[in-house]
Amino acid sequence: MLVYELGDIVTLKKGHPCGENKWEILRTGVDIKLKCLGCERQVWLSRMEFEKRVRKIKEGDKFVSIVHHKKSED
Ligand SMILES: [Zn+2]
Repeated sequence: MLVYELGDIVTLKKGHPCGENKWEILRTGVDIKLKCLGCERQVWLSRMEFEKRVRKIKEGDKFVSIVHHKKSED
């Protein structure tokens, strides 16, 4: 299972209707709460839905493909 932390910035398979496709993780757990960085709207996704849709994550100053993101130790 991949590790996500509060404050991580991710992109999804499909951007928000406002035209932005950067989302900040506000809450993790069974459901993931995301905030669109374009219009500040907040949405909830189930963890399963989130993992299906997430594409890239910001590490340092660049976005990397989610498959290269750190995995949990167990
Ligand atoms: Zn938006």
